[in-house]
Amino acid sequence: MRLLLHICCAPCAVAIVDKLKNQAELSLEGFFYNPNIHPIQEYTLRKASVEDMAQGFNLPLLTKNEDGMALWKEKLNGDKALRCNTCYALRLDETARLAKEKGFEAFTTSLLISPYQDHDLIRTLGEKMAQKYQLKFYYEDFRELYRKGREMSRGKYYMQKFCGCMYSYAESDHPKKPIYLLD
Ligand code: SF4
Repeated sequence: MRLLLHICCAPCAVAIVDKLKNQAELSLEGFFYNPNIHPIQEYTLRKASVEDMAQGFNLPLLTKNEDGMALWKEKLNGDKALRCNTCYALRLDETARLAKEKGFEAFTTSLLISPYQDHDLIRTLGEKMAQKYQLKFYYEDFRELYRKGREMSRGKYYMQKFCGCMYSYAESDHPKKPIYLLD
């Protein structure tokens, strides 16, 4: 089965790629599409890290660059639930659309590994997009791989200090957060 994996970042994807690449029944490819990552310096770091990881695993990688700053700034500055729902839906919709266009049978996302994201909502939206594009949403509770992914990434891939968007940057109190000027 040809499976397209939406990749949010290398630390979230690496243990999933490691696992799925070894499953003979799957033909895996990656897709980096994350217009939620602000600013461009942060986006560039995460994207380069994903490219590095994909190369290391010999994983074919598709990429779509899109700057979502204006959307987040103008339309998603309300409550967090609306913002994150839109963020997941946007990325899953485009992943499913591309999977359909390129002849994949199924798609999934590395967002399913994170204990910090709304796992059930991601699953629900993935299934909704699968229906919309008449594809299979490959669901697995990847959260058990989260720690392994962090261990595999330490010292190797860029480890971000905030979720991605300008609001999550402002909300993060990580002591090693990079200094960006966002208005
Ligand atoms: S907090 Fe994370 S999931 Fe929510 S909108 Fe921002 S980047 Fe997307």
